[in-house]
Amino acid sequence: MNAGAQESWPSPRSRSWRTLFVVAMVIASVFPVTISPHATSRLGTDAPTSRFQGKQGEVLFIEVPVADHAGEVTGQFLGRRVLFFPLRSQTYAGLLGIDMEDAPGQHELHVTIRHPGGRRKLIYPITVLPEAYPTQRMTLPKNKVELDAATLKRVRTEQQTLLSVFESVTPHPLWEGPCVEPVEGRVTGVFGSRRIINGYPRNPHSGEDIAAPTGTPVRAMNAGVVRMTIDHFFTGKGVIIDHGMGLFSMYFHLREIAVEQGQRVHRGQVIGTVGSTGRATGPHLHWGVRLNGARVDPYALMRLPLGR
Ligand SMILES: [Zn+2]
Repeated sequence: MNAGAQESWPSPRSRSWRTLFVVAMVIASVFPVTISPHATSRLGTDAPTSRFQGKQGEVLFIEVPVADHAGEVTGQFLGRRVLFFPLRSQTYAGLLGIDMEDAPGQHELHVTIRHPGGRRKLIYPITVLPEAYPTQRMTLPKNKVELDAATLKRVRTEQQTLLSVFESVTPHPLWEGPCVEPVEGRVTGVFGSRRIINGYPRNPHSGEDIAAPTGTPVRAMNAGVVRMTIDHFFTGKGVIIDHGMGLFSMYFHLREIAVEQGQRVHRGQVIGTVGSTGRATGPHLHWGVRLNGARVDPYALMRLPLGR
């Protein structure tokens, strides 16, 4: 098949396009929060160039109409895979993570639907909107910022170890229903913030910090499998949970870890307690989420219709 981009677009009169539109309207009526412009996604009405849009760090819930017996539905967005799962009859759904540093502007989600009889391609225009991230200035002990050669080597190895977890993707959802907050506490609202540590710009903050007293229970945001427990220089004691479909959650700076690698956890299960291990200015939970390689705002997940 050698269809160009334009030929792959659903025609405004095609059944598939109408189905998509109807599905979008159904979502709009059932999940008003989900599709408000500030939340996760919006499907405009200017067919055929209707598009999804979301801010940096947000997650789009994308439904794809399929024939009855689609074998597999996969997508590509900015070089990252997007996986789709059967949602109901003739509909697959996928979670598309917009990385906190994806360039604002027009992009395309390429979806491939494989049937026993062949395959079909759809191209969804996706608009990435810029998020106004705050700048956060912090002062940390010199030995936590200016690393000696041995520590730098340790940090690099630990980063590779962490990244290796995300390479094994469970191709079906392990989550059960909507996500929950892992800790009740004061959310510091620093997801994506540009960090200036001891006067020097550093990597942006890829998670959310929730301040809570040492020893406060930390709960799994959803059901899944514990893929790794760590004790790293920056993260301190941490737990990484695989929720399926390329969705992983991370819990760092724990005082204690209450689960083991390979263990299944249910939504809300206590996996450890709040601490200040690793590089932390005080007791808090660092809650991070990776979605097929994209660093997304954990709170964006709580607005998704993950009911099953
Ligand atoms: Zn943090």
